[in-house]
Amino acid sequence: MDFSHSPRTQDYLKRIRAFMQTHIAPVEAQHLRDIANRTYSADWTQWTVLPEVEALKIQAREAGLWNLFLPDAELGAGLSNVEYAPLAEEMGKSFLAPEIFNCNAPDTGNMEVLWKYGTPAQKEHWLKPLLAGEIRSAFCMTEPDVASSDATNMRATAIVDGDEIVINGKKWWSTGIGHPHCKIAIFMGLTDAQASRHAQHSMVLVPLDTKGVTIKRMLPVFGEYDPPSGHGEVWFENVRVPKTNLLLGPGKGFQIAQGRLGPGRIHHCMRCLGAAERALQLMIERGLDRIAFGKPLVNLGGNRERIADLRIAIDQARLLTLYAAWKIDKAGGMAALTEISAIKVSAPNVLQQVVDAAIQMHGAGGLSYDFPLTALYAHARTLRLADGPDEVHRGLIAKMELAKYAAPRAKPKESAA
Ligand SMILES: Cc1cc2nc3c(=O)[nH]c(=O)nc-3n(C[C@H](O)[C@H](O)[C@H](O)COP(=O)(O)OP(=O)(O)OC[C@H]3O[C@@H](n4cnc5c(N)ncnc54)[C@H](O)[C@@H]3O)c2cc1C
Repeated sequence: MDFSHSPRTQDYLKRIRAFMQTHIAPVEAQHLRDIANRTYSADWTQWTVLPEVEALKIQAREAGLWNLFLPDAELGAGLSNVEYAPLAEEMGKSFLAPEIFNCNAPDTGNMEVLWKYGTPAQKEHWLKPLLAGEIRSAFCMTEPDVASSDATNMRATAIVDGDEIVINGKKWWSTGIGHPHCKIAIFMGLTDAQASRHAQHSMVLVPLDTKGVTIKRMLPVFGEYDPPSGHGEVWFENVRVPKTNLLLGPGKGFQIAQGRLGPGRIHHCMRCLGAAERALQLMIERGLDRIAFGKPLVNLGGNRERIADLRIAIDQARLLTLYAAWKIDKAGGMAALTEISAIKVSAPNVLQQVVDAAIQMHGAGGLSYDFPLTALYAHARTLRLADGPDEVHRGLIAKMELAKYAAPRAKPKESAA
């Protein structure tokens, strides 16, 4: 078993690290100060992009550090999941880096869907500008009125009417919809309630300037609005788009979701582990610098053991995530269902555990905006819900595990009596 990175990964890693240190870190420090100083308000219509971020995107693109997530060698970097995973981890150490390298959710997932399932016209119209970083996108699945961890519950409708699709319903937690450059949403809606359970829903491309699309508000996470992307509540009222905006066809929503299963979760989890590394570093630096009861904080109580346990937890989660990535590369997402769900539980929980310990080591300062720890905590807590809550993934792992014992039933043992 060879644990070393491929030469391509090593080369990209080196360049990403240098770019992040030199260019992104100073801009990010300013961005965090702006958020702390409330330069942004809850009113997303007033949000603007950071000119420094837009300038860095151009620089990143020119440096060839662009669309690295896409396994297409012409449109992206052509990396496998195992090769891209360490790059996602590195980007996860920063709040801004994923977007600057055009590798941020939900755009990456939406681009993958278009790349894999889009018609030539859909690709020309939407994939091209997304890959160029000219526009941004949102994914509208979750609804306020139904338990959305069960995706078959979706009640908002996407009904075929002649040459058009008519869309009605409410969505919320649509990440990225507040971004001034967000132009397109992938909407998941009910098309045929009589069809089999996984053939009822469709995915439709809905330009945000279509009549009947209204962003009602942005939802805060622990009081923060995540500007300039945001998480919006969006109402769709008799929205009509051409039938050609359907992705793959009516009732194919779950087929698409299944087809792109895996890579997005690898990205999320590796970014989580990058964030966990950042939190652990902050914790150790603080613990070495500050003295109480005559000793550096790291040498007090169980702090050394705590640090060791966090190192073990991060490394375990990374190995599991890389194993899941390897399985997807070898045999596809369906062959790695258990591992994909396992990392989706493991990585955000590890991040939450590390950030919590880092906050504790920082004392009261850890809860302030002087350190990025509250933002990292919000990120961890979010990821335990977004893209399927922990319990749903645990349920799937248990189902797969129990299925191993289902058939054939062993003969009852003869009584010893
Ligand atoms: C910051 C953020 C960003 C998001 N971005 C997006 C986005 O871009 N697009 C989008 O469509 N959605 C997005 N979401 C929504 C997210 O995917 C949903 O919140 C998630 O799928 C859960 O759905 P729900 O909130 O309706 O919870 P519910 O379905 O109401 O579930 C509530 C709770 O019930 C319990 N539960 C549910 N199922 C089970 C089970 N099988 N076993 C045991 N317990 C269970 C769990 O504890 C769960 O947390 C985002 C969420 C957040 C917080």
